[in-house]
Amino acid sequence: VSLKKVRLTDILERGLEMTSHLVEEKNMEIETTVDDSVHVLGDMNRLIQIMMNLLANAITYSPENTTVHVNIFKNEQYGIFQIQDEGIGISKSEINRIFERFYRVDRARSRNSGGTGLGLAIVKHLVEAHHGLIKVESEVGEGTTFTVYIPIAKS
Ligand code: ATP
Ligand code: MG
Repeated sequence: VSLKKVRLTDILERGLEMTSHLVEEKNMEIETTVDDSVHVLGDMNRLIQIMMNLLANAITYSPENTTVHVNIFKNEQYGIFQIQDEGIGISKSEINRIFERFYRVDRARSRNSGGTGLGLAIVKHLVEAHHGLIKVESEVGEGTTFTVYIPIAKS
């Protein structure tokens, strides 16, 4: 992977374009709180793939008419983006397995979404290829927050 200086809000813009059909289908609201100055060392297309997968999950595993919040900020070391939904959540007993290939919580319920269970395995692999980190916090029936840390590009 060749790592270049990439603006995180540009990644978000592309991710939103690629998921706008899902947003419309479910009448979702996307709220963003962003710092335009955050640049990371990354591969544009792979970062878009990470963003798109997390947005698609947030929408897929949420009821209609709910809001997804996207935050972009930074600390000393990392550019950070956070995707926060008001969806079905993930139980403590399953949260450790969601990054495994083909793992899907409650197959019966998620079947109609037609996924394969590969999305998060790919996301984790891509984050690690950037020397980054991914964290997840969730409360069943309340929602889920994924936070991605990618090494910052200094100007
Ligand atoms: P695809 O390969 O199409 O992405 P998928 O969405 O089922 O299929 P992953 O994205 O890897 O696969 O997610 C794995 C499982 O984790 C999902 O099936 C779902 O049960 C759970 N999950 C992922 N994101 C969320 C979320 N935001 N809220 C609740 N559950 C989630
Ligand atoms: Mg998915």
